[in-house]
Amino acid sequence: MIFVYEKGFGFEHEMREKGVGLVFIISAPSGTGKTTLVREVIQQLPGLQFSVSYTTRLPRSNEKEGGDYHFVSHSVFQKMVERNEFLEWAEVLGNRYGTPRSDLKKLELEGFDLILDIDTQGAKKVMKEIAQPVLIYLLPPSLKVLRERLMDRGVDSLEMVKFRLSNARRDMEEADGYRYVIVNNRIEDAVEELKSIIIAERCRRGKDIVLEENKRQWEEKDG
Ligand code: 5GP
Repeated sequence: MIFVYEKGFGFEHEMREKGVGLVFIISAPSGTGKTTLVREVIQQLPGLQFSVSYTTRLPRSNEKEGGDYHFVSHSVFQKMVERNEFLEWAEVLGNRYGTPRSDLKKLELEGFDLILDIDTQGAKKVMKEIAQPVLIYLLPPSLKVLRERLMDRGVDSLEMVKFRLSNARRDMEEADGYRYVIVNNRIEDAVEELKSIIIAERCRRGKDIVLEENKRQWEEKDG
């Protein structure tokens, strides 16, 4: 992967502002507050883009086409599968969800960081396809709070809430394999934690670029 940065002072700053081509995967059971968290962090941190998945599920009243998801029919989704347009796709609670490869291509060209909001099955598939994605699992403060949030948001029947909870339990067992776990007690704290993780990973992954540039500057100075 090639990144083009303006050289000289402020180079590291520019790198952090633009991102370094990292892929962050955030997984969480439905109702944990992942969407709010990701939106807030994208607003606050430059150089970070959200990968908008495709889904066959119907939009909820507050969801926008192209913002939350690309909402497509089963046949359109199937055609995309056949054309190998998804980095990964999975069936979740009876609907299909897929991550488009196109965002990854853009990332390779432009060098920003990408955040994928996908489930644990999707994360496993992405790990086979790309080098070193950063895995972050978001937990609700407790199962009781998760149940209450699912009931309060009023988008699911009682049956569906029960179903989501039994899935959540299984899903949470996968959190152990993730690099980071954030507990969403207070959204403000979760935002700070996620931002810190992203900044730390940018510093870590940008180390080689910074050291190389530093060396180049010394060599230039010494003639
Ligand atoms: P919801 O219908 O509540 O928006 O999402 C249900 C689940 O599907 C969530 O766990 C979410 O992370 C997951 N999901 C959303 N987009 C994708 C995707 O592109 N791939 C996979 N594997 N899971 C996804």
